Amino acid sequence: MSAARLTSRDIRSESRLVVMRALLAAGESTRSELAEATGLSLGTVSTIVQDLLKYGIVVETGLLAKTVGRPTTGLRLNADRGRVVGFYLEDRYLETTVFDASLGRLATVEVTSEEPVEDADAVIEWILDALDAALGEARASRDDILGIGILLPGGMQRPVKAETVPSAIWLHLDRLRDSLGLPIVVDNPLKAIATAELWLGAGRRSANVVAVSLGIGVGAGIIQDGAVVRGATDAAGEWGHSLLAFEGRLCQCGRRGCVEAYVGVPGVQQTLADTAPGHPLTAMPPDFDFIAALSEAFTAGDPDAVAAVERTAEFLGAALTDLVALLNPEVIALTGWDSAAAWRERVLSIVRRRVLDDAPGDAAVDLSIEGSGTCGMDGIAAIAYERFMRDIGLVTTRVLPAL
Ligand SMILES: [Zn+2]
Repeated sequence: MSAARLTSRDIRSESRLVVMRALLAAGESTRSELAEATGLSLGTVSTIVQDLLKYGIVVETGLLAKTVGRPTTGLRLNADRGRVVGFYLEDRYLETTVFDASLGRLATVEVTSEEPVEDADAVIEWILDALDAALGEARASRDDILGIGILLPGGMQRPVKAETVPSAIWLHLDRLRDSLGLPIVVDNPLKAIATAELWLGAGRRSANVVAVSLGIGVGAGIIQDGAVVRGATDAAGEWGHSLLAFEGRLCQCGRRGCVEAYVGVPGVQQTLADTAPGHPLTAMPPDFDFIAALSEAFTAGDPDAVAAVERTAEFLGAALTDLVALLNPEVIALTGWDSAAAWRERVLSIVRRRVLDDAPGDAAVDLSIEGSGTCGMDGIAAIAYERFMRDIGLVTTRVLPAL
């Protein structure tokens, strides 16, 4: 598929999203303020607002008394246009969150299962029950739902066998669609964190953002020129499996020296084991409980914990320098284990120093490195909302995942 030239219809479609995001950022705004915030002409903004009013996506809030000039009509996103639901699924864990149509969270329901839920019927039942429970808490009904987004860990390739809950979802997506009778979009966490930054985070003020997810695995959600980068097969952003150390540590992907083997949670634990063999925290399972315990040890001044955190920040900074060289972002937004409150500032300052010192040429000029206030669940809700916008014909260019 070649990259088709944008038609004027597509450009209007892009601008609609730009106006919606500006309105979401402002809370309440006017046509002329939106023109100023987006750089679009007042005429273009007025036409777009007219379309959005027609579909009930935006509502007028009445006359705002301005200090200068005549009163002007206020606008905001219509939070009650409908509801959007996000699901996050792992083998034994299901999180369901109901959002309003301005991406505000209304209710979250978390369910865990003793056994992995693998059978397709059981997975579908699990999802339907969780949906009804979450809708009940949000005082909403299925009729209110504009779209559903499902966030699945892992890649975007359809698996051959249903070995896990995510793979069961992939294989039985059509059955799930039929059972729900609602529009569903499935996406991976990297696209979701990038979309969350676009709607609710750094993407509101910068067109080039890298959202870095730091968990058991690590990856990057990329925004370039105001749009999420997906790649040919939705696989862009697998920065965790780019090379940090030639012939370095073994990565869970089977290769050696990947970024993830150093800055994923098991990698952080390995770094502690390398500097302090036999440290009691190295016996813990490498999950977020380990991160919490390491954070506590860091706060208590345990020199091994401090050394491991600082070394990890150096690895992270070095790996991010490659992203800066490739993508020349304005903002790197970190989310995940870095948010362990005790060390966030220390990690950010080491990462900043390393990236700013090592980035080539002018790539790091004006680069901001910060913690992200968003998460993948926000992003999958925004993707489901974009899908709704596409379904009603207001968005033509937004690239959604193939399924
Ligand atoms: Zn790897």
